[in-house]
Amino acid sequence: MSTVAFIGVGNMGGPMARNLLKAQEQVLAFDVSPAALKPVVDAGGKEAATALEAVTDADIVITMLPAGAHVRSVYLEDASVLTAARKDALLIDCSTIDIDSARAVHVAALKAGFDFLDAPVSGGVGGAEAGTLAFMCGGSDRAFARAKPVLEKMGKRIVHAGGAGAGQAAKICNNMLLAISMIGTCEAFALGEKLGLEHQKLFDIISAASGQCWSVTTYCPVPGPVPAAPSNRDYTGGFATNLMLKDLKLAQAAAAGAGATTPLGAEAAQLYSLFAAKGNGGVDFSGIIRMLRGEL
Ligand code: NAD
Repeated sequence: MSTVAFIGVGNMGGPMARNLLKAQEQVLAFDVSPAALKPVVDAGGKEAATALEAVTDADIVITMLPAGAHVRSVYLEDASVLTAARKDALLIDCSTIDIDSARAVHVAALKAGFDFLDAPVSGGVGGAEAGTLAFMCGGSDRAFARAKPVLEKMGKRIVHAGGAGAGQAAKICNNMLLAISMIGTCEAFALGEKLGLEHQKLFDIISAASGQCWSVTTYCPVPGPVPAAPSNRDYTGGFATNLMLKDLKLAQAAAAGAGATTPLGAEAAQLYSLFAAKGNGGVDFSGIIRMLRGEL
């Protein structure tokens, strides 16, 4: 049994920490929000008064925070995880953040003698609850080998993407493609509607033809063909537009920094900005079909 310090137990971190408890790990949790801590404490976790208190005796430190600024503050400030944790502790950041922040934390952690991994996830809140997340990991072979067993208690696919920041890079490449494919899928179904095609017929054809993709087969943006998709629940309870927009902005910043040309990624970021600005930040990202139909 390991002692895991879990910092940031919100929508994702909360269920992840609870899965560690189910797997008989000890969890010492810290969050700036007492409401976020309660479900973890109710599930058998212990509450720490500060991040530093949480990490002092931990074998493993996991952070699941909103953005790069939060991760920098938890790892890089004068009194931080890097000053308070045991030198043999393994540090894993599962937040989705900018690659520069991830690399800055890698450099500081390495300098302080720690094994550190950036390990953002895909699979959403449902995947966090079910313990079926995919982890995309960046860091040394040794850090990855040490992290794999604990990540397997929260996820199904644990992939070593490469060195420092590679997990974040893989995550934003995937989500940029997802946004583009979702917009394309929405356009195809909206065009099909105008041309008099039934949703189910178009789904049956595309899902077995060359236009087939995850946005069609698993997350179809019109109700009916995929009963579990948020389109059947008025676009609630899925992957919020604001989170997709965050990832698209990270992808655009990374593309600018790396000199990569991503015109469709840029267009997707613009369309999701517009959709969010119309009051749909909390709506599932497949709901953008309404804007593309001209309903909004
Ligand atoms: P959330 O806002 O629900 O949780 C973040 C938690 O961090 C909050 O409880 C907040 O109080 C806490 N926090 C903020 N600053 C802190 C600090 N300095 N110390 C301790 N706690 C602090 O967000 P979430 O949905 O759990 O997302 C977390 C990360 O996972 C984000 O980077 C997000 O992009 C990524 N992600 C989210 C999803 C999703 O579907 N929600 C899917 C994949 C990846």
